[in-house]
Amino acid sequence: MTRRLTRDEVVRLDRAHVWHPYTPIDAWEKADPIVVARAEGSSLYEADGTRYIDGNASWWVTALGHSHPRLVRVLREQADTLAHCALAGIAHEPSAALAEELVRRAPPGLTRVFYTDNGSTSVEVAVKVALQAQQHFGAPKKTRFVALDGAYHGDTIAPSSLGGVEVFKRPYASVLFECIRAPFPEPDAYERAFEAIRDVVRREHDTIAAVVVEPLLQGAAGMRSYDPEYLRALRDLTRAHDVLLVADEVFTGYGRTGAMWACDHAGVTPDIMCLGKVFASMLPMGATLVSDRIYDSYRGASDRALWYGHTFCGHPLGAALAREVLAIYDDEDIVGQARAKAPRITAAFERIRAIPGVARVRSLGMTGAADLTPSKGTGTSYLGQAGWRVYEEARRRGAYLRPLGDTVYVCPPLVIGDRDLDDLLGILEESVRSTLS
Ligand SMILES: *Cc1c(COP(=O)(O)O)cnc(C)c1O
Repeated sequence: MTRRLTRDEVVRLDRAHVWHPYTPIDAWEKADPIVVARAEGSSLYEADGTRYIDGNASWWVTALGHSHPRLVRVLREQADTLAHCALAGIAHEPSAALAEELVRRAPPGLTRVFYTDNGSTSVEVAVKVALQAQQHFGAPKKTRFVALDGAYHGDTIAPSSLGGVEVFKRPYASVLFECIRAPFPEPDAYERAFEAIRDVVRREHDTIAAVVVEPLLQGAAGMRSYDPEYLRALRDLTRAHDVLLVADEVFTGYGRTGAMWACDHAGVTPDIMCLGKVFASMLPMGATLVSDRIYDSYRGASDRALWYGHTFCGHPLGAALAREVLAIYDDEDIVGQARAKAPRITAAFERIRAIPGVARVRSLGMTGAADLTPSKGTGTSYLGQAGWRVYEEARRRGAYLRPLGDTVYVCPPLVIGDRDLDDLLGILEESVRSTLS
């Protein structure tokens, strides 16, 4: 066994060598970081026992909490049997059984599973499949994509191109492909937003391969939700014009919105559905599900095959975990639990709405968000913004609540206990209050 490092040693090595995601370097080097030593259930712990309630389920992943004992057991057992194996020309039980279980639960009509490494690659393959399938369907001019304002679909080049958050895209603008951008269907104006996308699809459908959306809820844009009716109308529109509908359920899947899939709220089956995050919960893995119509279009000569794959496609550890995740969802009625707890989040954000300086609040399922009036006169310092001051206040009170700019939000494990959930919401409310007072 290698020697365990002290907290100070971890921080020193981190500062010397680790490049952190979404993190301005100067601010990070000045910050006193949280150094997590272990995690369990809905809690993160430092080595000295300092505890933080995990307010965003560790980047929207640990819906079942940290180190769920059933997942830990399956991971160990699978590691003893078959830990890695190529999926090219080989079949194995974990990936075959998982595919059947995913198809059984997916919106009806999604029958084929392509395994990926994470959410971004689930979207990446969706883009490539949409392009190639349109060629197979005899429509090679359908090469463009429509995506929504504020969309987030991951950070590799294709998902970034679909993305609508400008700061994430600016340095790469020269190589990103152009998308047709449609307005976000604001709750009180989704009909108008639908008319805009309807007009563009009617006019340009000859050159459009697919419309790509986060169904019902945009996570990275600040937990913004829209009416299921928009999604239903979009399904009819795309079908009528032979445009594919891609639902990126990487964030919204697995019960976050109060149904297993956000598409379920609208009773809609997309042509392509992208999964990730909660999928294997402890390992990076995702999948892209497609209809028979798309899959069957790849039959025939070898140049019609999907010449695409990732080294770790269908990897046995992730697949075994992903099966157990689904089994736990059944046995513990995780989606039902989430639905029962959601009103606590809504009620807390109604209280937060009343705090002076809070511009807007919203909640859907096991998410809630508040937009703080952007801080004035504090410059553009990363840590000086209101969202980051709330983060610091919350940390002092025992919660990890990473903001999205000046939007503060919760997205806790779906299994979080009522007491921890109330504590988390209380900490957020107090932290907002003391930041804005
Ligand atoms: C997080 C996210 C992705 C990207 O997933 P990664 O695993 O980070 O690549 C894609 N789409 C949505 C909606 C997401 O929230």
